[in-house]
Amino acid sequence: MALCEAAETGSNTPRAVTQVLRLALAHLGERPVTEARVANLCVGDRQFLMRELEQHLGRSGGWFHADCTTCANRFDFSLQYADLPVQEAGPSYPLVRVQWQDRQICFRLPTGADQEQILEQPQPEATSWLLHQLLEEPECVLPCDNGFQSVVDAALEEVAPGIVTRVLTSCPECEAENTVELDPYRLLAWKSDGLLKEIHQLASHYHWSEAEILALPRFRRQRYLDLIDQSRGMIQ
Ligand SMILES: [Zn+2]
Repeated sequence: MALCEAAETGSNTPRAVTQVLRLALAHLGERPVTEARVANLCVGDRQFLMRELEQHLGRSGGWFHADCTTCANRFDFSLQYADLPVQEAGPSYPLVRVQWQDRQICFRLPTGADQEQILEQPQPEATSWLLHQLLEEPECVLPCDNGFQSVVDAALEEVAPGIVTRVLTSCPECEAENTVELDPYRLLAWKSDGLLKEIHQLASHYHWSEAEILALPRFRRQRYLDLIDQSRGMIQ
């Protein structure tokens, strides 16, 4: 319930991810979990944790939808997160050294806090703002070259840990290959409505309090709901 509410009330995605992970994690590297430490995890780590949490809460993958870019048909495909590879961080993690002409410039990987702050930057300058934000030596002057940005992007990509956020699948209708985005924050779309309905059903039938119902393990709650359904069937 707390995770659903954190997801529903988060004012933007990075903020909601921070709230959800802060509630869900028992500790971070054997140290207590704080909002600041969760926000300062790199983006790949946060995505990994969100998908792990989704699996922990009982959704290990399942059915996904896509619209075919060739024939425009909507189709379903199934996948299990456990079958997808996870990219390990590079040896210099969380730092990234970029070689540019005769210089070596050091950056750090972007974090959730950076993602949240970039939302407040005016659009045309947002990318350059981020680049300066990630600089390990803030006084360093960055090259004014269009190619530099893509060299930095590739270097960050090389070092960043990551989960699969894009899969190739073929359309069952026309067999065209489609690249489909897999939202790493799918958990944020969970609504408390389903859970509230369960509480409502159990409370109406057994007259237990909301706290008592939420303290039940999920499988037992489900078992009681099945029993309510069965008893209704018997009455009718
Ligand atoms: Zn198609």
